[in-house]
Amino acid sequence: MLTEITGLVLKSVNLGESDRLITVFTKEMGTVSALVKGARSLKNRNMSATQQFCYSSMMLYKKGDKFWVRESSLIESFFGLRDSIEALSLAGYIVEVLSDVTTAEAEADLLRLSLNCLYAISEKKYSLEKIKAAFEIRAVSIIGFMPEVLTCRECEETKGDFFFDIMAGNIECYACHERIMRETGRNVDDGERRVVTILSDGAKVALGYLIHSPLERIFAFNISDEDMALLSRATEEYILNQLERTFKSLEFYKEVKR
Ligand SMILES: [Zn+2]
Repeated sequence: MLTEITGLVLKSVNLGESDRLITVFTKEMGTVSALVKGARSLKNRNMSATQQFCYSSMMLYKKGDKFWVRESSLIESFFGLRDSIEALSLAGYIVEVLSDVTTAEAEADLLRLSLNCLYAISEKKYSLEKIKAAFEIRAVSIIGFMPEVLTCRECEETKGDFFFDIMAGNIECYACHERIMRETGRNVDDGERRVVTILSDGAKVALGYLIHSPLERIFAFNISDEDMALLSRATEEYILNQLERTFKSLEFYKEVKR
Protein backbone atom coordinates (compact mmCIF):
# COMPACT_ATOMS: atom_id res chain seq x y z
CA MET A 1 0.00 0.00 0.00
CA LEU A 2 1.24 3.47 -0.87
CA THR A 3 1.06 6.46 1.45
CA GLU A 4 1.42 9.98 0.13
CA ILE A 5 3.00 12.57 2.42
CA THR A 6 4.14 16.17 2.19
CA GLY A 7 6.68 17.34 4.71
CA LEU A 8 9.88 18.95 5.87
CA VAL A 9 12.99 16.74 6.12
CA LEU A 10 14.33 17.30 9.65
CA LYS A 11 17.14 14.79 9.58
CA SER A 12 18.96 12.73 7.02
CA VAL A 13 21.41 10.07 8.18
CA ASN A 14 23.59 8.02 5.84
CA LEU A 15 23.18 4.27 6.10
CA GLY A 16 25.56 1.70 4.65
CA GLU A 17 27.02 2.35 1.21
CA SER A 18 24.36 4.47 -0.37
CA ASP A 19 21.10 4.48 1.60
CA ARG A 20 19.69 7.21 3.73
CA LEU A 21 17.34 7.26 6.75
CA ILE A 22 15.24 10.40 6.86
CA THR A 23 12.93 11.91 9.47
CA VAL A 24 10.13 13.95 7.96
CA PHE A 25 7.73 16.30 9.77
CA THR A 26 4.65 15.75 7.64
CA LYS A 27 1.41 17.59 7.13
CA GLU A 28 -0.61 14.40 7.32
CA MET A 29 0.78 12.24 10.12
CA GLY A 30 3.30 14.13 12.24
CA THR A 31 6.84 12.79 12.24
CA VAL A 32 7.66 9.82 10.05
CA SER A 33 10.93 7.97 9.46
CA ALA A 34 11.62 6.43 6.09
CA LEU A 35 14.46 4.74 4.25
CA VAL A 36 15.66 5.94 0.87
CA LYS A 37 17.37 3.31 -1.21
CA GLY A 38 20.47 4.46 -3.08
CA ALA A 39 19.75 8.05 -2.09
CA ARG A 40 23.37 9.09 -2.20
CA SER A 41 24.01 8.08 -5.76
CA LEU A 42 23.97 11.13 -8.04
CA LYS A 43 21.76 9.32 -10.51
CA ASN A 44 19.11 8.57 -7.92
CA ARG A 45 15.95 10.54 -8.55
CA ASN A 46 15.23 10.72 -4.82
CA MET A 47 18.55 12.31 -3.96
CA SER A 48 17.67 16.00 -3.92
CA ALA A 49 14.20 15.92 -2.39
CA THR A 50 15.25 13.83 0.61
CA GLN A 51 17.99 16.10 1.95
CA GLN A 52 17.74 17.98 5.23
CA PHE A 53 15.62 21.19 5.12
CA CYS A 54 13.81 20.16 1.93
CA TYR A 55 10.04 20.48 1.82
CA SER A 56 8.93 17.68 -0.46
CA SER A 57 6.10 15.41 -1.36
CA MET A 58 6.82 11.69 -1.23
CA MET A 59 5.21 8.40 -2.01
CA LEU A 60 6.00 5.84 0.69
CA TYR A 61 5.46 2.12 0.80
CA LYS A 62 5.63 -0.14 3.80
CA LYS A 63 7.85 -3.20 3.99
CA GLY A 64 7.70 -4.98 7.33
CA ASP A 65 7.41 -2.22 9.91
CA LYS A 66 9.41 0.30 7.92
CA PHE A 67 8.52 2.97 5.40
CA TRP A 68 10.54 3.27 2.20
CA VAL A 69 10.48 6.19 -0.20
CA ARG A 70 9.38 5.14 -3.65
CA GLU A 71 9.14 8.57 -5.29
CA SER A 72 9.78 12.08 -4.16
CA SER A 73 9.53 15.54 -5.59
CA LEU A 74 10.96 18.73 -4.23
CA ILE A 75 8.56 21.57 -3.41
CA GLU A 76 10.99 24.00 -1.77
CA SER A 77 14.68 23.62 -0.93
CA PHE A 78 15.14 26.94 0.96
CA PHE A 79 18.32 27.30 -1.01
CA GLY A 80 19.38 30.58 0.61
CA LEU A 81 19.86 28.83 3.97
CA ARG A 82 23.24 27.68 2.69
CA ASP A 83 24.49 31.22 2.06
CA SER A 84 25.84 31.82 5.55
CA ILE A 85 26.90 29.72 8.49
CA GLU A 86 24.63 31.81 10.79
CA ALA A 87 21.59 31.17 8.61
CA LEU A 88 22.35 27.47 8.30
CA SER A 89 22.90 27.05 12.04
CA LEU A 90 19.62 28.81 12.89
CA ALA A 91 17.84 26.45 10.48
CA GLY A 92 19.64 23.58 12.22
CA TYR A 93 18.29 24.78 15.57
CA ILE A 94 14.73 24.97 14.20
CA VAL A 95 14.82 21.37 12.94
CA GLU A 96 16.45 20.14 16.16
CA VAL A 97 13.62 21.67 18.20
CA LEU A 98 11.08 20.12 15.82
CA SER A 99 12.72 16.70 16.18
CA ASP A 100 12.33 17.07 19.93
CA VAL A 101 8.71 18.23 20.08
CA THR A 102 6.93 16.59 17.17
CA THR A 103 5.09 13.30 17.50
CA ALA A 104 2.99 11.05 15.33
CA GLU A 105 0.25 13.71 15.38
CA ALA A 106 -0.40 16.15 12.57
CA GLU A 107 0.46 19.68 13.71
CA ALA A 108 -0.45 22.00 10.85
CA ASP A 109 0.32 25.32 12.58
CA LEU A 110 3.72 24.18 13.79
CA LEU A 111 4.64 23.01 10.31
CA ARG A 112 3.44 26.29 8.79
CA LEU A 113 5.39 28.33 11.36
CA SER A 114 8.53 26.33 10.62
CA LEU A 115 8.19 26.72 6.87
CA ASN A 116 7.58 30.47 7.28
CA CYS A 117 10.72 30.77 9.41
CA LEU A 118 12.93 28.75 7.02
CA TYR A 119 11.60 30.79 4.10
CA ALA A 120 12.31 34.07 5.92
CA ILE A 121 15.87 32.93 6.72
CA SER A 122 16.42 31.75 3.16
CA GLU A 123 15.10 34.96 1.59
CA LYS A 124 16.91 37.17 4.14
CA LYS A 125 13.72 39.14 4.66
CA TYR A 126 14.11 39.72 8.39
CA SER A 127 16.93 39.63 10.92
CA LEU A 128 17.88 36.18 12.20
CA GLU A 129 17.25 37.40 15.75
CA LYS A 130 13.68 38.28 14.91
CA ILE A 131 13.04 34.95 13.18
CA LYS A 132 14.58 32.99 16.05
CA ALA A 133 12.46 34.78 18.69
CA ALA A 134 9.30 34.28 16.63
CA PHE A 135 9.98 30.58 16.20
CA GLU A 136 10.83 29.96 19.85
CA ILE A 137 7.82 31.58 21.47
CA ARG A 138 5.26 30.58 18.85
CA ALA A 139 6.42 26.96 18.66
CA VAL A 140 6.10 26.41 22.43
CA SER A 141 2.75 28.21 22.40
CA ILE A 142 1.43 25.92 19.67
CA ILE A 143 2.46 22.75 21.50
CA GLY A 144 0.65 23.76 24.69
CA PHE A 145 2.88 26.07 26.71
CA MET A 146 1.40 29.43 25.72
CA PRO A 147 2.41 32.05 28.29
CA GLU A 148 0.05 34.82 29.49
CA VAL A 149 1.86 38.00 28.57
CA LEU A 150 -0.85 40.54 27.87
CA THR A 151 -1.56 41.79 31.42
CA CYS A 152 0.03 41.66 34.88
CA ARG A 153 -1.14 38.50 36.64
CA GLU A 154 -1.72 40.45 39.89
CA CYS A 155 -3.35 43.74 38.89
CA GLU A 156 -4.04 43.42 35.16
CA GLU A 157 -1.83 46.39 34.30
CA THR A 158 -1.03 46.39 30.59
CA LYS A 159 1.58 49.14 30.23
CA GLY A 160 5.11 49.73 31.47
CA ASP A 161 8.01 47.48 32.39
CA PHE A 162 7.34 43.89 33.38
CA PHE A 163 9.00 40.83 34.81
CA PHE A 164 8.44 37.65 32.79
CA ASP A 165 8.15 34.65 35.09
CA ILE A 166 9.73 31.96 32.92
CA MET A 167 8.57 29.00 35.01
CA ALA A 168 4.98 30.13 35.58
CA GLY A 169 4.60 31.54 32.06
CA ASN A 170 3.09 34.90 33.04
CA ILE A 171 4.13 38.48 33.75
CA GLU A 172 4.17 40.85 36.73
CA CYS A 173 4.29 44.63 36.51
CA TYR A 174 7.11 46.44 38.22
CA ALA A 175 4.94 47.62 41.16
CA CYS A 176 3.48 44.17 41.88
CA HIS A 177 6.91 42.59 41.56
CA GLU A 178 8.34 45.01 44.14
CA ARG A 179 5.42 44.47 46.49
CA ILE A 180 5.68 40.65 46.29
CA MET A 181 9.40 40.81 46.90
CA ARG A 182 8.81 42.99 49.95
CA GLU A 183 5.97 40.87 51.36
CA THR A 184 7.69 37.54 50.91
CA GLY A 185 11.04 38.91 51.99
CA ARG A 186 12.61 37.35 48.94
CA ASN A 187 15.35 38.96 47.03
CA VAL A 188 17.03 38.04 43.80
CA ASP A 189 19.84 36.20 45.57
CA ASP A 190 17.49 33.69 47.22
CA GLY A 191 18.43 30.12 46.47
CA GLU A 192 14.95 29.19 45.30
CA ARG A 193 14.38 32.31 43.33
CA ARG A 194 12.13 32.16 40.34
CA VAL A 195 13.59 32.59 36.90
CA VAL A 196 12.49 36.00 35.69
CA THR A 197 13.61 38.15 32.83
CA ILE A 198 12.91 41.84 32.37
CA LEU A 199 10.54 42.95 29.63
CA SER A 200 10.44 46.58 28.59
CA ASP A 201 7.12 47.86 27.28
CA GLY A 202 8.32 47.38 23.68
CA ALA A 203 9.60 43.84 24.31
CA LYS A 204 6.37 42.90 26.08
CA VAL A 205 4.20 44.17 23.22
CA ALA A 206 6.37 42.27 20.69
CA LEU A 207 6.15 39.08 22.76
CA GLY A 208 2.35 39.32 22.83
CA TYR A 209 2.34 39.96 19.09
CA LEU A 210 4.48 36.89 18.32
CA ILE A 211 2.12 34.67 20.31
CA HIS A 212 -1.19 36.01 19.00
CA SER A 213 -0.61 37.42 15.49
CA PRO A 214 -1.81 35.56 12.39
CA LEU A 215 1.03 33.24 11.31
CA GLU A 216 1.40 34.87 7.89
CA ARG A 217 2.02 38.26 9.57
CA ILE A 218 4.28 37.05 12.36
CA PHE A 219 7.39 39.01 11.33
CA ALA A 220 5.52 42.22 10.58
CA PHE A 221 6.46 44.23 13.64
CA ASN A 222 9.02 46.91 14.40
CA ILE A 223 11.25 46.80 17.44
CA SER A 224 14.26 48.77 18.70
CA ASP A 225 17.60 47.01 19.20
CA GLU A 226 17.33 47.38 22.96
CA ASP A 227 13.86 45.84 23.09
CA MET A 228 14.97 43.10 20.68
CA ALA A 229 17.77 42.09 23.07
CA LEU A 230 15.26 41.70 25.93
CA LEU A 231 12.81 39.85 23.68
CA SER A 232 15.53 37.43 22.51
CA ARG A 233 16.52 36.62 26.04
CA ALA A 234 12.90 36.06 27.10
CA THR A 235 11.97 33.72 24.22
CA GLU A 236 15.15 31.66 24.51
CA GLU A 237 14.90 31.22 28.28
CA TYR A 238 11.24 30.38 27.97
CA ILE A 239 11.60 27.63 25.37
CA LEU A 240 14.59 26.03 27.13
CA ASN A 241 12.81 26.06 30.47
CA GLN A 242 9.55 24.70 29.13
CA LEU A 243 11.25 21.92 27.14
CA GLU A 244 13.67 21.34 30.05
CA ARG A 245 16.70 20.93 27.87
CA THR A 246 19.23 22.74 25.76
CA PHE A 247 20.14 22.23 22.10
CA LYS A 248 23.60 21.69 20.63
CA SER A 249 22.57 23.56 17.50
CA LEU A 250 21.58 26.58 19.63
CA GLU A 251 24.98 26.68 21.28
CA PHE A 252 26.55 26.46 17.84
CA TYR A 253 24.33 29.25 16.47
CA LYS A 254 25.28 31.50 19.38
CA GLU A 255 28.95 30.78 18.85
CA VAL A 256 28.96 31.63 15.15
CA LYS A 257 26.76 34.70 15.76
CA ARG A 258 29.25 36.18 18.23
ZN1 LIG B 1 0.64 44.44 38.61
